[in-house]
Formats: sequence, C-alpha cells, structure tokens
Amino acid sequence: MQRHKTREVRCGKLVIGGDHPIWVQSLTTTKTADVEATRTEIRSMLDAGCEIVRVAVFDQADAQALGAVKSFLGDLPLVADIHFNYKFALTAIEQGAEKVRLNPGNIAGLSGEFGTLGRERVKIVAEAARRKGVCMRVGVNSGSIEKDLLEKHGYPKPECMVESALRHVEWLERCGFRDLVVSIKSTNTQWMIENYRLWAKASDVPTHLGVTEAGLPGYGTLKSAIGIGSLLCDGIGDTIRVSLTGEKALEVRAAFDILKACGRRVLSPELVACPECGRIAIDLKKVVNEVRERIRDVTIPIRISLLGCAVNGPGEAAEADLGIAGERGQGILFKKGRLVRRIKEADMVDELEKEVRAMAAERDAAAAPITVRHQ
Ligand code: SF4
Repeated sequence: MQRHKTREVRCGKLVIGGDHPIWVQSLTTTKTADVEATRTEIRSMLDAGCEIVRVAVFDQADAQALGAVKSFLGDLPLVADIHFNYKFALTAIEQGAEKVRLNPGNIAGLSGEFGTLGRERVKIVAEAARRKGVCMRVGVNSGSIEKDLLEKHGYPKPECMVESALRHVEWLERCGFRDLVVSIKSTNTQWMIENYRLWAKASDVPTHLGVTEAGLPGYGTLKSAIGIGSLLCDGIGDTIRVSLTGEKALEVRAAFDILKACGRRVLSPELVACPECGRIAIDLKKVVNEVRERIRDVTIPIRISLLGCAVNGPGEAAEADLGIAGERGQGILFKKGRLVRRIKEADMVDELEKEVRAMAAERDAAAAPITVRHQ
C-alpha cells in the first residue's frame, strides 16, 4: 500500500507528512480560558495517547490562555482553532501555539467572499506564523464556501470544496507560506472520501482527516472508521481525528484502532477473535476480554488469534504470531503458525500473557523498532 507523497511540515517537535507517522489529534471541549478544566481534559486525552492537542479559541481570553495551556503540554504540539477573527490567531502565535487552524473563507469577515480584506488578513497571520515557525491548517468545510464557488457548483460538492481549499492554499503560497496542512471534512462520509481523493490528485499539501460531527460513539465511530479508514487504505492522510460526542479519550482510542485496522500504524497487539458459533469449545468471550485487559500495557505490533474451536484454528493461526484454538476444556497453542503445546482452559490467559511478554522482551533485547509496522 503506497502512501500518497506529501510535503513535510514541522509542527513543534513533530513532522507532519512525508513518510512520518500519521499522528492522532483531538480537540478539547472546555472553554480554553478555563485553564484548569482544559488541563484536566487534556490529561485524559494524553493518557489515551493523543499526540496533537487542539483547543478552541473563541475570544481573546481563550487566545491569551494558550500560554498557560502550552506550559502544561510541554513539547507536545498545541493547535489553536480560530474562527472569524484573525487577531486571535496572532495572539495564539505569540502565546506559543505550534499550529493555527483557520478557515480563510471565514477570516474574510463573514462576507462569503475571499476578497482583498480577507486575503490581507490571512497574509498578516501567515507572516506572523512564518516568523515563529508555526504551521497552519486550512480547514475548509461546507459552511464556509465562498459565494462565487457556491454559485458555480450549485452546492458544496467535493469539486467545490477542493476548489475552495486550492484557492486558499494558492494565496498562502503566493504570500511565501508553505507550512500548510489541509482538511476538507464533511458530515457526509461519501463526500468526505471524495473530497480527499480529489485533493490528493491536485496537491502535495498534507491532509488532516476526519468526518465532521460524526456523532455518538458507536455509529459515529463507524462513520469515522469508514471515512478515515477508506482514505488511509488509499494511502491518503497525515493526521487524523475521530470527532465523537462525548469523552475525548474514546475518540483518541478509536483513532488508534482505525490506524491499526488499516495497518498504517500498529502500536499494540492486534487481537483477532472468531465470532463464535455452535462449534465453540471454550468460553472465548471470557478469554478474549481477560487477555485484552492483561496486555493493555504491551506495545509490540503482534497479532494474537483466538479461535473458539480447532476447525479453522491451524489455518488461521498460521497468520498470527500467537494463537489459541479451543478444544474441549483446553486449547491448542500456536506460535508463528506452529503447534507448540496444549493448555488447560483455566490456564489459557496466564499462558498467553507469558508468551506475549516473552515476545515483547525478545523484541526489546533485539532493540528492534517496535512502533511502526507499515509507514
Ligand atoms: S473458529 Fe470455530 S467456534 Fe469460532 S466461528 Fe469458527 S467454527 Fe465457530
């Protein structure tokens, strides 16, 4: 699976694009000026593994608070999400944000046009960003498309969204600013996929992927998995966010699961389990749940296959690093596709955990890179 070639853009200590990892981002829900509440929410996002933290900047108080938020984050990149007022972007840059997300269509001053005034304001932000080594995400969405493009295309269909994003990128590049990332999100999953596919044909600017307002965990996660996952499988996408209503740690975990399922970035073991049927020979649900909890801290990209019976066991376990196929009251342990021994059902979880930890220790000893399988 070839990754779409994009330019490299520095974002604080991280580099976005090129062959660099696809980073996971999330957005706080607090009023940013409430620094304590914002820090508390960020802590839960970081515990889940979030790598780029975005906060909303609704007014000058939020923009002024970014310095305090940034000091808590250390060297993890902070993104300031700006709407409408370019002066907030200037304050955010002064306060230490490593990236500003703005929509030039909105910065124009709600006129629905990207005219002289809007262009000048965007240029002022770009110049301030360049002086501080700050990158910028041009975030186009269906609500911010310029009037003339809406008239031309009739409605904000993918061609219209991409034309708007290209127009903004072109202006920023004419201003001499190239440290850009683009997002062209949509709540419509099919359009979202089409937006980014068209973009990838037209530009080398890295992309931030997401399905806007995906909804509650469950259906929202599924929509995001289809939208983001389809593009990742095409090789498109340099940062991702799963936009869910609710606890932010959930969207961070969902993002890592999508990366893992697409084979784009595998940072933990993948548990493969059969759906069970009438041939089931062990309490598979119990084993799978217990194994998952026991190895939460393990960070090697191995595949563990757990199958309820031996019907498909040997064949399917051949693809896994470790596997168990149930027999009546016991299980057959496979390692790298070879039958190793039989284990009593009661000992299965302990034995599997031991094997996983032994593999992790072997990798550590060999000092093999353990974080990225396919990049
Ligand atoms: S592995 Fe065995 S128990 Fe599981 S679904 Fe397949 S046949 Fe059924």
